[in-house]
Amino acid sequence: MPPFPEAAKSAVEDSQMRHNLRLATGTIRGKREAVVSELDDWPDLRQAGKAIKDRTLRHLDTYLEQLEEAVTAAGGTVHWAADADEANEIVTGLVQATGESDVVKVKSMATQEIELNEALAQAGITAYETDLAELIVQLSDDLPSHILVPAIHRNRAEIREIFRDRMASWGVPAPEELSDDPRALAEAARVHLRERFLNTKVAISGANFAVADTGSMVVLESEGNGRMCLTLPQTLISVVGIEKIVPTWSDLEVFLQLLPRSSTGERMNPYTSTWTGVTPGDGPQEFHVVLLDNGRTDVLADTVGRQALRCIRCSACLNTCPVYERTGGHAYGSVYPGPIGAILTPQLRGTASETEASLPYASSLCGACYEVCPVAIDIPEVLVHLREEVVARPGHRAEKAAMGAAGWLLNGEHRLDTAQRAASAARSLVPRRMPGPASAWTDTRDIPEVPEESFRSWWRREGAAEAPEHTGDGGDEDAQEGGRR
Ligand code: SF4
Repeated sequence: MPPFPEAAKSAVEDSQMRHNLRLATGTIRGKREAVVSELDDWPDLRQAGKAIKDRTLRHLDTYLEQLEEAVTAAGGTVHWAADADEANEIVTGLVQATGESDVVKVKSMATQEIELNEALAQAGITAYETDLAELIVQLSDDLPSHILVPAIHRNRAEIREIFRDRMASWGVPAPEELSDDPRALAEAARVHLRERFLNTKVAISGANFAVADTGSMVVLESEGNGRMCLTLPQTLISVVGIEKIVPTWSDLEVFLQLLPRSSTGERMNPYTSTWTGVTPGDGPQEFHVVLLDNGRTDVLADTVGRQALRCIRCSACLNTCPVYERTGGHAYGSVYPGPIGAILTPQLRGTASETEASLPYASSLCGACYEVCPVAIDIPEVLVHLREEVVARPGHRAEKAAMGAAGWLLNGEHRLDTAQRAASAARSLVPRRMPGPASAWTDTRDIPEVPEESFRSWWRREGAAEAPEHTGDGGDEDAQEGGRR
């Protein structure tokens, strides 16, 4: 993917996509606001969610071992994956051991992050997505553009065309007379998927939460496809990021209130599936959990950036972000788009490449994402922190020199005064566009007109008599200028 500004440029030119996004994010935003405002204790819930996640992350090693013990005691098997390659190798090996070549999948960000479907395909295993939006994305060879609604950039008419053109090559075809009525589209998907659910012996899922003290996994979804995948197959493999842990069921209760209201704008989640190891004669008889690091312990080591690991993937920050609403998710070049992607992706992958280095700038720092985040992740704080990291890289010498010169100028009143007088005297010479490489700045911005007289000079002349005595304890220059302020 190209860096964000380049990718965003072509995205904002797509008026159909902008329309689809504005409609979809506006609707979800409105629903969220309505159900959140019903709860008087929402700020307390938010603080509780933040505190639970922070405490868990501080003692992550302990809780992970507790989880492993509990899963094993309940008849499951725990695997540890340091990175994407190791996780893909483990999952591929587990599927191959069953002798199957098809798997059904529950929507999972972790498996998209490690590109599991592609790794399975290389081993001759076909992964079938069963979430409606993921199915649309898979059938159209597209990429997800939203955490919760991966096909948010598509409208009904586009989805009908995708179903009519592509369903037959993946299984049960769409009806010839398929309309773009949402119920007809859902029915076509239901019939297409039903065959898969009934015939596939292996399922792969993620987990929204993993409860350490009982070893239980929790998946929240809205369509019932997850319930089918988690109960019908013989073997279940769950790929779970190590930050998904909550210590106890009482802790889980807080998130089961925060997540549905923040994500789909519902009071209660439609399908919440929980399972603990293996139960003879009921559900999958073989259960594996792959605990995925893939850069998360590096994020944990950063005292500012680690708050990103509190994320419960609700997508409220995407739905409220003015940048995301205009660019859509593809411009972020990652499975994690929007504000959370702008802080998570550069931390998971590092900022060495231009694509990741551009992400902390994909924000106006308006703070709307922080306001809506149910676990109070201060996304603007992390964005600024990451920008510091990016400009500290080699290759930003000109920017650093410019900031150094600005700091020197602004830190001395005499210097600033002299510069302002010089700028006023030469105001007719200030160009409308910057020359050379700096012209990129003025391509989209106007250079402000330099006034005939600076405010400081005007104030000295007009307001000095009424100005209060300066009582500051600044440096020499402050002391000299104090009486004139
Ligand atoms: S950062 Fe906060 S608002 Fe955004 S997806 Fe994560 S939990 Fe939701």
